[in-house]
Amino acid sequence: MTRRPNASSDAPSLLGAHQWHTLDSDEVARLLDTSASTGLTAVHATARLAKYGANELTSAPKRSALRIVAHQFRSILVLLLAVACALAFAFGDTVEALAILLVILLNASVGFVTEWQAARALEGLRQQEVQQARVRRDGADLLVPAQTLVPGDLVLIGAGDRVPADARLVQSAQFRVDESSLTGESVPSDKSPAVLTDAQAVLGDRASMLFAGTIVTEGRAEAIVVATGATTELGRIGAMIDDVQEHGTPLERKLDALNRVLMVLVLLLCCVIVLLGWLRGHALPEMVRIGVSLAIAAVPEGLLAVTTMTLAIGMQRMAKMHALVRRLPAVEALGSTTVICSDKTGTLTRNEMTVRALHVGDRHVDVAGSGYVPVGDLSENGATLVVSVNSDDALPLALRIGVLCNDSSVDRSIDPPAILGDPTEAALIVAAEKAKIDIAALREQFPRLHELPFDSDTKRMVTVHTTPDGRRVAYAKGSPAALLRMCSATIGAGVLTPLTDAGRATWTDTNNALAGQALRVLALGYRALDDKAPSTSSAVHTSLDAGTPTTGFTLVGFVAMTDPLRDGVRDTIATCRGAGIRVIMVTGDQQVTAEAIARELGLDRAPDGTPTRVVHARDLDALDDAGWEAVARDAAVLARVSPAHKMRLVRALQDRGEIVAMTGDGVNDAPALRTADIGVAMGIRGTDVAKDAADMVITDDDFTTIVRAVEQGRMIVSNILRFIHYLFSCNFAELLVVFTTVMIGWPLPLGVLQILWLNMLTDIFPALALALEPSAPGVMTRPPRDPRAPLMTWAFGGMIAWQGALLAICTLAAFRVGLNWHGDTGEGLRRAETIAFMTLAMAQIFHAFNARSTQRSIFSRDLFTNAWLWGALALCFALQAAAVYVPALRSVLDTTALSPRDVLLVTVTSLCPVLVVELYKMIQRAVRAR
Ligand code: ADP
Ligand code: MG
Repeated sequence: MTRRPNASSDAPSLLGAHQWHTLDSDEVARLLDTSASTGLTAVHATARLAKYGANELTSAPKRSALRIVAHQFRSILVLLLAVACALAFAFGDTVEALAILLVILLNASVGFVTEWQAARALEGLRQQEVQQARVRRDGADLLVPAQTLVPGDLVLIGAGDRVPADARLVQSAQFRVDESSLTGESVPSDKSPAVLTDAQAVLGDRASMLFAGTIVTEGRAEAIVVATGATTELGRIGAMIDDVQEHGTPLERKLDALNRVLMVLVLLLCCVIVLLGWLRGHALPEMVRIGVSLAIAAVPEGLLAVTTMTLAIGMQRMAKMHALVRRLPAVEALGSTTVICSDKTGTLTRNEMTVRALHVGDRHVDVAGSGYVPVGDLSENGATLVVSVNSDDALPLALRIGVLCNDSSVDRSIDPPAILGDPTEAALIVAAEKAKIDIAALREQFPRLHELPFDSDTKRMVTVHTTPDGRRVAYAKGSPAALLRMCSATIGAGVLTPLTDAGRATWTDTNNALAGQALRVLALGYRALDDKAPSTSSAVHTSLDAGTPTTGFTLVGFVAMTDPLRDGVRDTIATCRGAGIRVIMVTGDQQVTAEAIARELGLDRAPDGTPTRVVHARDLDALDDAGWEAVARDAAVLARVSPAHKMRLVRALQDRGEIVAMTGDGVNDAPALRTADIGVAMGIRGTDVAKDAADMVITDDDFTTIVRAVEQGRMIVSNILRFIHYLFSCNFAELLVVFTTVMIGWPLPLGVLQILWLNMLTDIFPALALALEPSAPGVMTRPPRDPRAPLMTWAFGGMIAWQGALLAICTLAAFRVGLNWHGDTGEGLRRAETIAFMTLAMAQIFHAFNARSTQRSIFSRDLFTNAWLWGALALCFALQAAAVYVPALRSVLDTTALSPRDVLLVTVTSLCPVLVVELYKMIQRAVRAR
């Protein structure tokens, strides 16, 4: 390493003072006391991190506690409560006024806790999205959190990365960067390490520089970090990445609209009650106070806060299951997903590639071993082979191409070995290691001059190297079809022969035979560049990167690798089908391999047993809208697709009204991810670009996680429906009780404070417990919910209405019996009122258990799975008992002690709704079963 002595600490003073783009990269390395080839030492990196601080921008302002508090006091509810409080004062009822004040405070604190909880959950999730950066320190490549980068670090950047810090290019290949976030320029700019002379060049013209926050659209580069954190150009303009503010999810907006309608209805109804009560001979002031408190009780104010909290807590739960949801609305959309389009490699399979066989010339070589441990022999017809590394025989040549036309490496310093880069490439390295090839030495002997990086459109990669004897040679690897297009010759039995149509057919057969065993096949080729120029040499100059040819290659052979299925995916796919979700496998791999994998997954047959359709990309290009419609209707596997096809598929599916989840990992997947209802990016394999475009990041890349997230999404939505069911039927019951008594001229069963008490007690604890309902048997056995369906269907509204009425009837019945037993004046009336109050409270608490499921009996196996609900039940019991037996509460709430007979009455009438609802569910089940 070229390090000047005692220079480690003078770098800081120089930082920022330089026009880095005008210096050549060696000069930059010297000034920053680093090496352009081996990077910083770990010791220096640590020291610099302490000195310059973390490479991060101050994060967007959090939702402050104060703002959340303020928010609690800006609602209709508080207004109503204030009116009630003022009325109480005006009528000289100080106890009631104080009690209402208490209610206001309680309400605000519950609202605060809910919103605070939601905000915290979202904040926590945001922090889990850590960007990783590839850096070279002490000559070894590492993956580190981008925050730990320091000036002088040598970073390795590839297509799809978000540039982690400002950096000076050292070398690059076909490198393009989208700098629109910084410069507004939407066309990606070409970058190269060449020194620029214009010191005053605007950012957009500094082609030798990379700027933090910009996006690499193409190519590969190495660069030296010159500025981190707030000192980057991005930091200087104070820009915030990703501070998108959500303005309510579709569900929240629907709820909001529903809320408004209900509010008007409730207020109208309350006016009617006040008016009727007055006409019926109740004192007007008394009726106004009752009306206001009823309005308070019936306005479903907490609904939005609880919904947001449910969504946020659901997101937290999902994060623990490796599904990071990046946008709140995605939670609902997940629950409604009807089609999941999934990548094959790495999502359905483990992406743990192991080379099984090499087919070179006319030899077939088997490779033993598994995983990334370099143990396993190469054998031919059962006889172990010893590969002579330095020969130009087809076998060592194939292995060499695999190692050199390769951007990845295997980190053996940890156990199990980790791979940096692409598993497909790592498998090639491991295969070469099994043949006793020294990877590092080989890469040193054949330095790379140019390259065409791999991309999933062309499906091939080409590199140009200098050989130890000074010649130039191009190596290529890619899909068999891509390489057959590039090749004009082949090595058969050690001699070069032109590739004839018959030869191509033979290779194609070999490929199909390998692919038919569910193996991933990669073809390898080479071309010597300094031999007598063949007639095709003009291609050298027309190729994309000057000096990197794409034709005139010689096909050396095929490498076939396995990629085992992930555990449990087969079952997960079956689960999806049971849940009415279609799974489409979308892969860049070839059709034969894709079909073989589809068979293993059970995707080759539709749920009804008919064979499914497999579509090859070449047939997709010619399709018109009707053709796409057909694909969207019945395809189960799409092979050889490019990212553009994915995008078109999403559109076609959406045109059919499907809610589409689409996975993706590469740069070019971003549009499809954005268009899909749920863009799913892979956390391990995915590029920064894909993650930025996605609604959800799967941190373990596993297909099963996507389906678990869908399940959670369904559960969350059904929890929200559960507490709507509960809350609305309870509120309706309260309204109905007062309304009916006024109508038929009975005394009023509930006082102002009793109504407020009930509202606090039953609306908060059981409702929250329902929102947190953890169990959901059967959510994945029914078809997805249509997200366009209104929240309040007639069936749902009807159920709320009759069950609310049921609660009211039971309460009124208890009240009537109480009146008969104790009379309707003085202490007797108070007893009857207490009975009604207790009955309504208990009935509501028990009703929470009804609301857990619209179909299942409450006595099913999961009766005890929601601990929150039992906690709420216990708490409500205790508070309700306190309301009657604690003297202070008793006098405030105007209740009185009950006799055992009264308690029995309350128990029976409050359990009645549970019995009736149970009976109803039973009948429904019987009807459905027939
Ligand atoms: P998938 O990940 O679904 O297999 P890709 O677009 O990543 O799809 O790959 C498509 C094809 O390109 C693969 O089947 C393989 O033949 C080839 N390929 C994959 N990775 C590489 C690579 N690193 N270099 C060269 N060719 C590759
Ligand atoms: Mg891939």
